[in-house]
Amino acid sequence: MKTATHVPTRIFPPVDVTFLYLINKILSGVENLHDAMNALVPVIRDYFIFDNVVVFLVDPMTLNLDVVYARATGRGKSAEADVAWGEIIGSQVIDSRQVILQEPQDSAQIDRLHRPFTLGVPLISHAETLGAIIFIRFGSPQYTPDQIAFAEYLADQLAVVAARENLIRENKRLEFQYRAFQVQEDFISTLSHELRTPLGFIKGYTTTLLRTDATWDEQAKEEFLTIIDHETDRMQDLISNLLDSAKLQSGQMIMDLQVVRLDALIKDVILRSKLHHPALDIQVEITEPIKPIQADPRRLAQTLENLISNAVKYAPGAPVKVKIAELSDGVRIEVSDTGPGIPEKYQAKIFDRFFRIQGSQQTTRGTGLGLFICKQIIQAHNGKIDLVSRVGEGSTFSIYLPERVEN
Ligand code: ADP
Repeated sequence: MKTATHVPTRIFPPVDVTFLYLINKILSGVENLHDAMNALVPVIRDYFIFDNVVVFLVDPMTLNLDVVYARATGRGKSAEADVAWGEIIGSQVIDSRQVILQEPQDSAQIDRLHRPFTLGVPLISHAETLGAIIFIRFGSPQYTPDQIAFAEYLADQLAVVAARENLIRENKRLEFQYRAFQVQEDFISTLSHELRTPLGFIKGYTTTLLRTDATWDEQAKEEFLTIIDHETDRMQDLISNLLDSAKLQSGQMIMDLQVVRLDALIKDVILRSKLHHPALDIQVEITEPIKPIQADPRRLAQTLENLISNAVKYAPGAPVKVKIAELSDGVRIEVSDTGPGIPEKYQAKIFDRFFRIQGSQQTTRGTGLGLFICKQIIQAHNGKIDLVSRVGEGSTFSIYLPERVEN
């Protein structure tokens, strides 16, 4: 292969103005380079014959060359196969920032497929090399200077599209980062509040009990100590929720799978829930018999307790119903309440980490971790958790668990 790196450039090609106008029109209407090339290839082939074309872009993070477009319009080769040869000349064009022409060394070769003429042009925008476009033509004729100049004109236009695409991507990345930052900020302020409130109670009642200038009867002492105990539990729950959420996020939570009898597990869950919420009005409906399933009993109980305590928190006074039904390949557990329900616009976000509905935040305490943890635990069992809710009618959280986690 003979390589000529120096090509006289910038001869304005003798193309029709309406043709250039058409190209500009196409390029101003597309969102990305791939769409630009899809629209351009049929148009430019009338002026400029080639068999294959590949467009590479430099990944700004890794500096690798990404193929954003490859098309074989001619005979003989597939687009995929040509990407490999294109990569070498693509790198050369990008490194040298020059147009590169490669001609077949052996012009005596009869088979046109062994006589590739390759033209590589850099995509440069604001002095930055964003990528390269490579054309290949099998057999003669050689690219004319006008055609090379036209290819340069095209590369300039494509560089504008690539730069625009990079800008849009960068904007999206910054927007995402900003939102993540805001979520974190909100979380830190919620967390401080959540920790400070029980701490305030604990400190207040301990100081009261320690006062030497006052005496308290046994009933008052018990009342204060119960509050301290309750608030300590709340802090402990909050901290274990935080740890769980961090472990789940990094994939470090390991499920301790055992054979679990759901009817026994649910009885335990209700007992514990009643301990925390003595006024809880709960009904259980089980279609007998429920086959044992494979699950982590502690994590599954944690999930159900969370759903029940949410029902108590967000649907105060409303009865809670737990329904367990056997399915052919597993079980379904539903926890329903007849509370205020969850507006449709929030339903898709309700299981997101730190998500809380605005407004509920003013009257209830929470961090937005509960449902996130529930979802992660159920997913770790290869199961699924869904919500059906109507404002004013109530919410039903429905869990599907397979009979066996590993199938
Ligand atoms: P937290 O309770 O700490 O806010 P969750 O992840 O458990 O976090 O719940 C997220 C949000 O979903 C809550 O802030 C609440 O607005 C809403 N929610 C959860 N369960 C119910 C329910 N049963 N009824 C109405 N809203 C609910």
